[in-house]
Amino acid sequence: MATTAFWVLFLAFVGAFAAQVATRVLLIAAAPNTFSTADLRLRVNRFLVDVVLQRRTIRERPAAGLMHAFVFWGFVAFAGYTSVEFLRGLGVVDLTHTSGFEAYRLALVPFASAVLLGIVYLLIRRAFVRPIALGAKVSLESVVIALFIATLMITFLLTFRLEEGTTAERVNWWTHMLVILAFMALIPASKHFHLVLSPITVFLKSPELGNLPNLDFEKEQVGLETVKDLGSKMRLDAFTCVECGRCQVNCPAWGAGKELNPKAIILQTQDALLAGKIDTKLGEVYSEKVLWQCTTCGACENQCPVGIEHLPILIGSRRGLVSNGEAPEYLGAMYLNLERRSNIWGLGYDQRTKFVQAAQLEIFDPAKHDVLVWLGCAGSFDADFQKSLRSLFSILRARQVKFGVLAKERCNGDPAKRTGNEYMFQELANGNIEDLRTAGVKKIVTSCPHCVKTIGADYAKFGYQVEIVHSSVFVEELLRDTASASLSGERPSVTFHDPCYLGRYAGTTEEPRALLTRFGAELREPVRNRDNPYCCGAGGGLLFADKEEEPGSRISDVRFKQLQDTGAGTVVTACPFCSIMLKGAQASAGAETQFVDLMTFVAGKLQPRA
Ligand code: SF4
Ligand code: SF4
Repeated sequence: MATTAFWVLFLAFVGAFAAQVATRVLLIAAAPNTFSTADLRLRVNRFLVDVVLQRRTIRERPAAGLMHAFVFWGFVAFAGYTSVEFLRGLGVVDLTHTSGFEAYRLALVPFASAVLLGIVYLLIRRAFVRPIALGAKVSLESVVIALFIATLMITFLLTFRLEEGTTAERVNWWTHMLVILAFMALIPASKHFHLVLSPITVFLKSPELGNLPNLDFEKEQVGLETVKDLGSKMRLDAFTCVECGRCQVNCPAWGAGKELNPKAIILQTQDALLAGKIDTKLGEVYSEKVLWQCTTCGACENQCPVGIEHLPILIGSRRGLVSNGEAPEYLGAMYLNLERRSNIWGLGYDQRTKFVQAAQLEIFDPAKHDVLVWLGCAGSFDADFQKSLRSLFSILRARQVKFGVLAKERCNGDPAKRTGNEYMFQELANGNIEDLRTAGVKKIVTSCPHCVKTIGADYAKFGYQVEIVHSSVFVEELLRDTASASLSGERPSVTFHDPCYLGRYAGTTEEPRALLTRFGAELREPVRNRDNPYCCGAGGGLLFADKEEEPGSRISDVRFKQLQDTGAGTVVTACPFCSIMLKGAQASAGAETQFVDLMTFVAGKLQPRA
C-alpha cells in the first residue's frame, strides 16, 4: 500500500518536473545551434575549478559564496542517498541495510551540517540583510526552497536518532521523500533550476570573453532580430540565471544610473521565451535604448558564476538593429568616417603620414625589423596619444629594438564590431589582414588594448593568427633588469586605471604595476581594479555617444571619482580611449589630477644606458 502510494506521488511529481523541463528543452532544441565544445581542455579545467570547486562563486563574495558552495557540495553528495531511498520507496531494491550504504550515510553527516549552516546563513542574508543585487523584494520562492533544503537535512540527521519501524521514523522518512518530490516539481520553473543547468552552462561557455562569431553574409546572416533568432546557448543561459545580481552590481552602466541592467536582459529573455513571443523584436523585448547603453566592458559575463554570456545577446541584437538601419545617429557619423577614411575620426591620411615622418618611423620590413608597432586610430591621429607613442618609440630605441610600422593602417574594426556593424568590421579586418600578411608580420606591439583584443582574437576567426601584445607587457619584459633614473627622493603617489580590454579581456594586470613600482611610483589601488575594473565609458561605440541625452551620470565621472578617492595625485592610463574619457571627466570636475600614459611615465624615468 505504502509502495503504491509512493509510486502515485512519484509519478505525479516527476511528471510535473519532466513537463516543465521538456518545455525548456524544446525551446532550446528549436534554436539555431550555437553550442560548441571547442577547446575541450580549457572547458574541463574551468568545469573543475568553477563548478566542482565553486571558485567564481566564492571569489567575489567569500562568505555567501562559501555557504552557497556548502549547499552545492551537499546537493551532489546526497545524490546517491536520495537515489537509494527512491529505489527503496518504489519497492525496486532495498540497499539501505548494506554496510557500504551505512558508511556512506555516516560520511554524509558533515555535509548535512554544512548544508544546514549554509542555508540558514543564506536565508538570513536574503530575508534580513537583503543586498541590492538580490532585488528589492524578498522572494517567497527562495524562502520556501531554503526551508525545503533545511527540512531535508534535519530529517536526514534524525534518521540517526529514530528507531527503525517506529511511527516517528516512518513520518520522518515520508517527510523527507515528499519534500524531495515537491522540490523537484518546483525547481524547473524557479531560479533553482540552475542546480541542474549551471554545470552544463559553465561547460558550454565560450573560452573567449565577449565571443562574437563572424556573421556569414553568404548565408544571409544579419544578427539577432527577433526572439526566434536567439541561439541555443543564449536560451540555455536564460533558463540558468540564478538571479544573484553579480552582473548587475558590476555593470558600469547600471552603476552610473542608466537603464541597462544585464540581469534584466537575461530574465527578459527567459520571460519572452516562456511566453512564446517568438516573433517579437528584440528591440522591444529589451528596449533599443538599453541595447545602446552597453560599453562591452565584459564585467557581466566575467562575473557571472553560472557561465551566462551577455555580450552575444547584446551585440547580436545591435547587429540586428544595424542591419535594419536602426543604429543611433552618432554611430552613423562614425560609420561614415570608417567607410570614407578607414578611421573613426574621419581625418585625412596625410596626417598619419606626417606623424610617421616626424617620428622618423621606418616602414616594416621583416628582414630588418623584429616587431611591428601598430599605431591604431588614436596613435595615428590623436595628438595627445601620439605623445604616448613617442615615449614608446624612445623606450624601444633606447633598448635597440628593431621595429617598423605599416605604411597604411585601417581602424582595426573594433568600434564597428562592438556596435553591431559586422559588414563594416569584416571589410576593415580583411583589408588589415591582407596588409599584415603581405608585410610578413610575426609579432605586433600596440598601446591600444582594443587592438590587442580585435587583432588577436577577432582576426583569428578569419584564420589569421599573429602574436600581439600590449606595450605594457612588451616593455615590462624589456626593462625587467633596468633601474629607474629617479628612485631617490619622494615617490609620486599614483593610481593605475586598468582598461577593461587590458585587465579584464587580456588578463594583463601585473605588468603595468610592475613598471610603475619599478620606476618609483607609490601605487594606490582604486576600488574595482585589475581583472574587474570599472569601465571608463568609452567602449561599445559610447566614445561617440551624445552624453547629454544619457540618463544618470556619465560612467567616466563615476570612474574618475573612484580614482580621485585613492588620494593619488596622478592617474596613469594605458589606453587612448580611457585617457580621453577620464580627462573629460576631470575637466568637468574641475580637478587638478594629473594624467600620464604608462609609457610616458616609464620613459620619463628611464636611465640612459652607459
Ligand atoms: S558588458 Fe559591461 S556595460 Fe555591457 S551589460 Fe555587461 S557589465 Fe554592463
Ligand atoms: S546573469 Fe549570472 S550574474 Fe547575472 S543575475 Fe543571472 S546568474 Fe547572476
